[in-house]
Amino acid sequence: MAWRSSGSSNAELVENLRKNGVFSNQRAYDAMKAVDRGDFTSRDPYEDAPQRIGYNATISAPHMHAAALEYLQNHLVAGANALDVGSGSGYLTVCMAMMVGQTGTVVGIEHMSELVELSTKNIKKHHSEMIENGNVVMIDGDGRQGYAEKAPYNAIHVGAAAAGVPKALTDQLADGGRMMIPVEQEDGNQVFMQIDKINGKIHEKIVEHVIYVPLTSRDKQWSHHH
Ligand code: SAH
Repeated sequence: MAWRSSGSSNAELVENLRKNGVFSNQRAYDAMKAVDRGDFTSRDPYEDAPQRIGYNATISAPHMHAAALEYLQNHLVAGANALDVGSGSGYLTVCMAMMVGQTGTVVGIEHMSELVELSTKNIKKHHSEMIENGNVVMIDGDGRQGYAEKAPYNAIHVGAAAAGVPKALTDQLADGGRMMIPVEQEDGNQVFMQIDKINGKIHEKIVEHVIYVPLTSRDKQWSHHH
């Protein structure tokens, strides 16, 4: 399903993802239809491919965003509290906010302050009310520590790959909550892990192979450019 779903508009892109069987039900589809990817990257926004957004970051491919929303759909329900680690362009944070609705909250945390600023600008193009009403909160910080102030989270999405699952993130997962996180294995391959907390116990499952930029320090990601 990778790459096959490109369109010439946001509606066409999302419709092609649906035709290719990416969505199992209406909610992730509705969210992606309601958020114009063109607000979050100027470069070929309706191609089913990742795009560079500066600072060694990318906006993930639409089929990966769709997959993340699908895995999290039962946890991104009305009124839920969610965390998007490595929020980058802000696109997925807004899609998640669509799903939790006006009584829910999504915290986006990103360590490149330039991207926090850019994503806030992107969101304000068509969804400024989400920021005004506190449904979306964009934080400048190290997402490996999560964001304890607003924990626990019913859903956590991590948009960059770590060597292991940061303990702060499993700690901040609510009981009954789910985290989707790309993890780099010893052989260098990355897997998308589904982590559920059930009665306080952690259940891990590998759901697919993926390729993400690393979850790292701000200096490792960008300092050599200054
Ligand atoms: N999900 C976003 C961005 C994906 S790229 C989108 O689709 O637009 C991964 C992002 O994670 C980058 O923006 C990068 O700057 C950020 N990142 C990497 N390590 C991080 C860390 N330790 N804390 C916070 N953000 C981090």
